Amino acid sequence: MTRFIFITGGVASSLGKGLASAALASLLQARGFKVRLRKLDPYINVDPGTMSPYQHGEVYVTDDGAETDLDLGHYERFTCVDARQSDNVTTGRIYSDVIAKERRGEYLGATIQVIPHVTDAIKEFVLSDIDDEEFVLCEIGGTVGDIEGLPFLEAIRQLGNELGRERSMYIHLTLLPYIAAAGELKTKPTQHSVKELLNVGIQADLLLCRADREIPDSERRKVGLFCNVGEEAVVPALDVKSIYQVPISYHEQGLDEEVCRHFGIETAKPELARWEEVVKRAMLPEGEVSIAVVGKYTGLLDAYKSLSEALAHGGIANNIKVNLKWLESEIFETGDTIHHLEDVHGVLVPGGFGERGAEGKIQAAKFARERKVPYFGICFGMQMAVVETARNLAGISEAGSTEFGPCDDSIVGLMTEWERDGVNHQRDEDSDKGGTMRLGAYPCDLGDNSRVRQIYNAPNISERHRHRYEVNMDYEAKLADAGMVISGKSPDGILPEIVEIPDHPWFIGVQFHPELKSRPFQPHPLFTDFIRAAVDQSRLV
Ligand code: GLN
Repeated sequence: MTRFIFITGGVASSLGKGLASAALASLLQARGFKVRLRKLDPYINVDPGTMSPYQHGEVYVTDDGAETDLDLGHYERFTCVDARQSDNVTTGRIYSDVIAKERRGEYLGATIQVIPHVTDAIKEFVLSDIDDEEFVLCEIGGTVGDIEGLPFLEAIRQLGNELGRERSMYIHLTLLPYIAAAGELKTKPTQHSVKELLNVGIQADLLLCRADREIPDSERRKVGLFCNVGEEAVVPALDVKSIYQVPISYHEQGLDEEVCRHFGIETAKPELARWEEVVKRAMLPEGEVSIAVVGKYTGLLDAYKSLSEALAHGGIANNIKVNLKWLESEIFETGDTIHHLEDVHGVLVPGGFGERGAEGKIQAAKFARERKVPYFGICFGMQMAVVETARNLAGISEAGSTEFGPCDDSIVGLMTEWERDGVNHQRDEDSDKGGTMRLGAYPCDLGDNSRVRQIYNAPNISERHRHRYEVNMDYEAKLADAGMVISGKSPDGILPEIVEIPDHPWFIGVQFHPELKSRPFQPHPLFTDFIRAAVDQSRLV
């Protein structure tokens, strides 16, 4: 029997609803249940793929090629359950499906309305593509009271009725702010938020209350009284130092116990040893390294969520604290600025789009190559490293990427054709921008004597992609003569996936996004090895 837990948020955004949902799922999993997490996003975009990282943070890509909300990254990292296309939906997707159905005449002349047609489509989505999961946790994006969120709240209200209490539960995440003048945590915003939810017919079963300090019992009782739940169903969600402490902290506050009580199920205590181990390693490192991340969206670190997590995982694997030095690549385009890289033990150029800052990334790759500092180029960071080698070692002075317009030597060019599961995909300059990149997991063969083969300890791998351009195979020989080898390729040998410079302590560029598959319990081998190389580097300087 699948039970559904609906998680809404109130009072303020950015309270960590995604993390809270992921943490609860991991606790249920630690009690032996099979879980799945879903996110319903009320915005109108069909998916976040076309949104600026400044607006929405990172676009998380699943194995099956969906461009999704970054919360799905938390879900995967906390539960190790691979998310699917069917785990994230937006108002835009729901409406475009409903309208397409209407155009096909499938509503048989009905007047299409939010209730029941849009809400039915939402309910169908929530209930679809479920195997034998015992719990499906559905997070509703935004905060209660948002206009866009109403159809989703109505849909989950109806679902609660249809499924019955023994198969559904509503959890509301709120904030108890501390007001210094009063010297108290205040409950009023939470009371209002719970009432707002009641206005749309949903009585929260459990309140998860964020607070920056212990919540006195008297306040818990008060929240319970005014919000119509038992005191035990007011669960403190206190600030913690590391996100890996969240499941442990929630457990100590009784969250999973209360959820089990709601559903009338009894299990043994959750098995939290692996979380304790991760927390121990994260909190008690044996040393530290400093890594420069040279990017374009460093003003909003959510744009690099999975990346900073994967770097932290690499640190956990090496018992090392990884300090990140975020640098806007544009700074390397003017004046004498390269000294910003002098004190770091590794340089990472992450994925990115467009010309702005590209030359600065090329300068960063040049610095790392010449100074023999470990370099990790991801997607765009690989492409720019190849351009740098082509220009400065292979003597191809006009080397560039057609992403920035026509160029004489397009070392990086538009990918016009590729295969996926036997299906041929074609693109050109005029293709739609949304959902048309090479997306999702693709296999890659690793070169026999390559460093990546050693690192992965496997002859072939599968990694997730999100790009439109690729390194041009025609330049393979010239690059090899210059000291850069293509050490990973698509199985048909057509698409370059990995480059490396063998005569360098650690210089690797990958066309895919390994950060999307790193987990605290299973740090990604490339990140583990990059941090190991950075530790070696730190011993030199
Ligand atoms: N802009 C590059 C491309 O589309 C790189 C994309 C990325 O870094 N994710 O190929």
